[in-house]
Amino acid sequence: MKEVSDLTSRLPLKQHLRNTKTVIKTVNRLDPRWLPLCAAGHLLGVANGYLALILSAYILDALGRGGGFQEVFRVTAIFCGVMFLLENAASWLRLRAEAKQTPLYVRYHALTEEKMLDMDYARINSPECEILKRRIQEDLNWSAGLFSVFGSVDNTLRSFLNLIGAVAVGLPVMGVMLTAGHAGVWATLLAAVAVSVVTTMLGSRYMALFNQRLNGFTDGMEERVPFLGWAFANGERFQYQNGKDVRIYRAYGLMKRYALDNGERPEDMAEYRKISGYRGKSGFCQVASAQLLEGMAYIIVGLLALAGSVTLGNVLRFAGCIRNLFGELDALTKTVPELFLNIRKHMSTMEFLELENEMHRGSLPVEKRSDGEYRIEFRNVSFRYPGSEDYALRNFSLKLKVGEKLAIVGMNGSGKTTMIKLLCRLYDPQEGEILLNGVDIRKFRQEEYLKLFSVVFQDFKLFSLPLGENVAADCHYDGEKAEKCLQEAGFAERLNRMPEGVDTYLYKDYEDGVEVSGGEAQKIAIARAVYKEAPFVLLDEPTAALDPVSEYEIYRDFDRIVGGKTAVYISHRLSSCRFCGRIAVFHEGRVVQTGSHEELLREEGGKYRELWDAQAQYYREA
Ligand code: ADP
Repeated sequence: MKEVSDLTSRLPLKQHLRNTKTVIKTVNRLDPRWLPLCAAGHLLGVANGYLALILSAYILDALGRGGGFQEVFRVTAIFCGVMFLLENAASWLRLRAEAKQTPLYVRYHALTEEKMLDMDYARINSPECEILKRRIQEDLNWSAGLFSVFGSVDNTLRSFLNLIGAVAVGLPVMGVMLTAGHAGVWATLLAAVAVSVVTTMLGSRYMALFNQRLNGFTDGMEERVPFLGWAFANGERFQYQNGKDVRIYRAYGLMKRYALDNGERPEDMAEYRKISGYRGKSGFCQVASAQLLEGMAYIIVGLLALAGSVTLGNVLRFAGCIRNLFGELDALTKTVPELFLNIRKHMSTMEFLELENEMHRGSLPVEKRSDGEYRIEFRNVSFRYPGSEDYALRNFSLKLKVGEKLAIVGMNGSGKTTMIKLLCRLYDPQEGEILLNGVDIRKFRQEEYLKLFSVVFQDFKLFSLPLGENVAADCHYDGEKAEKCLQEAGFAERLNRMPEGVDTYLYKDYEDGVEVSGGEAQKIAIARAVYKEAPFVLLDEPTAALDPVSEYEIYRDFDRIVGGKTAVYISHRLSSCRFCGRIAVFHEGRVVQTGSHEELLREEGGKYRELWDAQAQYYREA
C-alpha cells in the first residue's frame, strides 16, 4: 500500500513551486478563464495606479518649468479619460473573475466526489484512502477551502504586478539618480541594502519556521481532536448515531478523553506560544529591513533634489515607486508563504485525485439481449479481502441459470455477501474467473456491465432526496413507474400517507422531510431494484427489517415482482427460501449443497438439514 505524504516536514522552495503549479493547473482545467481574468484585472488596476502617479509628476514638472494651463489641461484630460476606461475595465474583469470563484469551488469539490465514485471500491476503503479523506475534510475545516487559495493567488498576483510597475516606472528616475549621484551616497545605500538583505533573510527563515511548526501543530491537533460534527456523524470515528449509544452507556467520558482533553494539553499551549514567537521575530525583521531601505532612499532623493540633480516631479515619482516597492515586497513576504501554506492544504486533495485504479477496466461492450439470455458462472474462484489472510471464498464454483430464482443460505461469514460483491465487481477474485456468457467479466466495460444488476445490499442506503428520485436513482424519472414499483414492494399504503406522494423528501435533513422506518426503507430499496429492470436481481437479506406480514407479501409476490429475471435471494431464514426453485448452501466460502428445499431436507447429515433442524428447534421452543 502506498504511504501518504508527510505534511509536517519543511518543504524546499522547489516543492512549494511544484505544489502551486499542480493546484493552479487543476483550477485552470476546471475553468481556464479565471486566472487570466484575475491577472488582466490586476494588470489594468496596477497600470491605472501608476498612470495617476505619472500624471501627478508631470503636472508638478510642468508647473515647475512654467508650462501653460492649456497643456496641463489637455494632458490631464487625456490621462483621466484613459484612467476612467482602465478602471472600469479593471473592475469589470475583477468582478468576472470573482463571479467564477463559487462555481469553481463547487466544481473542484465535485471532482473529488467523482473520483470517489470512479475509484476501485477496495481502494476507497483502504487505510491510505481513509487518511487522505480525513485530511481533505480537515483541510477544508482549517481554512476557507479553495477560497483561501483564490484569495492568496489574487493577493500575490496584485503585489507581484505592483512590484513590476514600481520597478518599470521608478527605473528611469533611478537612471537619472545614478548618473547624478556621488560615491559616498551610493556606498551608504549599498550598505543599507546589504543590512536589509540579511534582515529579510532572517525574517524569511523565522516565517518558514512559523509556517512549518504551525502546519505540524494544526495537523497534529486535528488528528487528535475530531470536530464535533464529525464525531456525531453516523459511521464515523465514534459511530454512535447522533448520540443514542453515548447517552444509554454514558460514554461521555470516552468521548471527552478523545475529543476534548486532547485539545487542551499544556504542552500544546507551550508549543503554540513558541510558534507565535517565530511570527513576531519574522515581523520585526521585515519591518526593520523595509524601513531602513525606504528611509535611506528618501534621504538620497531629497539630497539630489536639493542639489538640483532631479526634478520635483521625479522626486514624487520616485517616492511613489519606492513606497509601492517596499510595501509590496513586505506584502509578498507574507502573501507568498500564505499562498504556499494554503496550497499545501490542498495537496491531500491533489494526492487523492492522482490515485490510480488498480482493477482492470475492460473495453468490451456488453451484448444487448432482448431475450435476457445472460449466463453467469463462477469458476474456481478464490478471494481474500485486501489485508486479510483468510479466504472469504475458496475454490468457489456456481452457475446461475437464466431466469431461475436461486436462494443462498449459510451461516454468518460463509461468503454469501462476498459472492454478490464479486459479481458486481466491487472486488476482483485473486484466483479463478467469473464469466458472463463465457467471457471473463473483467473484459467488459464496467458501466455497461453494472447495468445488468439490480441489487439490494444488506447495508443499503437511501438518499435524503424525494422518494421518486430514490426509487429511480435519478432526478429525471417516470413518476407512474416509481409508484408502481413502490406498490409492488409493499409500500402502497405508506405512499398514500406521504404528503407529497413520490415528491416527498425522505428524512429530516429537509424541513418537510419524512422519516421512514427500517422496514419502510427496505421496501423503498426493493422498489429501487425493481425500477432498474436489470436482467439480474440480487437481494441480500431483503426482508430482514420487514414485519412478518410484509415479508410474507414479498414472498407471495416475489415471482411477479422479479418476473422472468434471474434472481439471487440471500437469507439466513431457511423457511423464507422455500419459494425459490433452487437453493445453494454456503459453508466456509464454498457451495456445499444445491437442490430444492425438499431434496436438501432429504440429505441426512447435510449442512442444510443441520441448519434447518437448528432453526426449527428454535421456532418450536419459542
Ligand atoms: P456472509 O454474507 O455469509 O455472512 P460475508 O461474505 O460477509 O459473509 O463474509 C465472508 C468472510 O469475509 C467473513 O469471514 C468476513 O469476516 C470476511 N469479510 C467480509 N467483509 C470483509 C472486509 N471488508 N474485509 C475483510 N474481511 C471481510
